[in-house]
Amino acid sequence: MRRPFIAGNWKMNLDRAAAVALAQRLAKEAESVEGVDLAVCPPSVYLDAVARAVAGSNVAVGAQNMYHEPKGAYTGEIGAAMLADVGCRYVILGHSERRHILGESDTDINKKVLAALEAALTPIICVGELIEQRRAGATMDVIASQFAGSLAGLSTEQIAQVVIAYEPVWAIGTGEVATPDQAEKVHLGLRKIMQVRYNEQVAQAIRIQYGGSVEPENAADLLGQPNIDGALVGGASLKAESFMGIIAALAK
Ligand code: PEP
Repeated sequence: MRRPFIAGNWKMNLDRAAAVALAQRLAKEAESVEGVDLAVCPPSVYLDAVARAVAGSNVAVGAQNMYHEPKGAYTGEIGAAMLADVGCRYVILGHSERRHILGESDTDINKKVLAALEAALTPIICVGELIEQRRAGATMDVIASQFAGSLAGLSTEQIAQVVIAYEPVWAIGTGEVATPDQAEKVHLGLRKIMQVRYNEQVAQAIRIQYGGSVEPENAADLLGQPNIDGALVGGASLKAESFMGIIAALAK
């Protein structure tokens, strides 16, 4: 049985006071939440403060990105061990905004995934197709190629440590959510890819989140699908009511 996992990607939003206030409120409201893993991923400059705000609670902290080298002359970059040092348990890697706006390739993402695992961080690895690719019927080819490239060289032990997030690019921040059926098909396809490359046990054990305009109103239908194990939430994670509303939808 896979334990659901709901994570909030705050992207480049909030200031320090707002980030800490939101984290404190979520930590308090999540006190009675059971049977689900929760995380928030603030901007990197607020990681330390947010980690302190949620310390000892049900809410873990993740980063939105990292560099693959552990240390050295890489101005502006942050290594995996540094993230772990300020209290991160997770790191989002290969988010579509990093792939399509910042130009990250599968090879870049793969190096980061391996470095994150080395530092005992759990990578949340994002894959997802563009609208033109979906219209061209290429969704599963794109997902398979991103999976192969971003997770190249991972052993069976290493794959067991990752979380995958299926995030159709056309659904991110657009309000245009994938239907539960569309998302479920891709999640099932991802399990098939893992079964072929690894084995059935791996395919059944890995958690696959859905991301793309998840809101309290559509969360129950998405999270109710057998192969959807949680959500990576952008916009709706910036308000305690909507993030908690998505968590509450798990129980429906
Ligand atoms: C995201 O950024 O990962 C995301 C899913 O954003 P939103 O929920 O706003 O579509």
